[in-house]
Amino acid sequence: MTMNFSVKTKQNTLISIRNIYCIGRNYRAHATELNSEVPKEPFFFQKSLPSLNTSNEFTIPKDREIHHELEVVILIGKNGEEIPIKNTDDYIQGYGLGLDLTDRKYQNELIRDQLPWLLSKSFKGSAIVSCFQDEKISEDFWLKINGDIHQKGNINRMIFSIAEQISFLSGMLPLMKGDLIFTGTPSGVGPIQNGDKLELGYGAKTIHSLMVK
Ligand code: ZN
Repeated sequence: MTMNFSVKTKQNTLISIRNIYCIGRNYRAHATELNSEVPKEPFFFQKSLPSLNTSNEFTIPKDREIHHELEVVILIGKNGEEIPIKNTDDYIQGYGLGLDLTDRKYQNELIRDQLPWLLSKSFKGSAIVSCFQDEKISEDFWLKINGDIHQKGNINRMIFSIAEQISFLSGMLPLMKGDLIFTGTPSGVGPIQNGDKLELGYGAKTIHSLMVK
């Protein structure tokens, strides 16, 4: 496996990644589909750095059922602490789409036992990201599996906006240049299977695709 944990910008620059943060339950319909409460305050978990996957393939770990979670992903471009909501745009280097792949059965066991989610969220290749662009993703973003749309969302429907997430997170820990933030998944999560072709895009554009094997 590659030990070079970087992502690409549209200008073809490679940016080294430091941390991968993910917000939980940030769209009402998704919280409901998992029988979870809508949170009053944002909460975050991490995916490990070796889970970063910019390639066009993903291999399902043996004997595990893996679910897709389509998300807008933010690339942080400079270090910051206690960033006010009005200034968060200055810290964003790029916008992309990603999949926060999840071992749902294992995660539910961990939730039941009140244990950290780490290993249900961090396995090889589980943090899939596209390349990063300057423009915001304001049109509906979607995931197609074998040509059919399985998830569709819009950042307008987030419970905590991207600005609120950056401000909150940077108030709790220093954000670093090269951090990624997965900003939550809309409803429609479900399993992926060997042989699936996944396409991530928004509006009429596909910006990343991969094969499951
Ligand atoms: Zn997620």
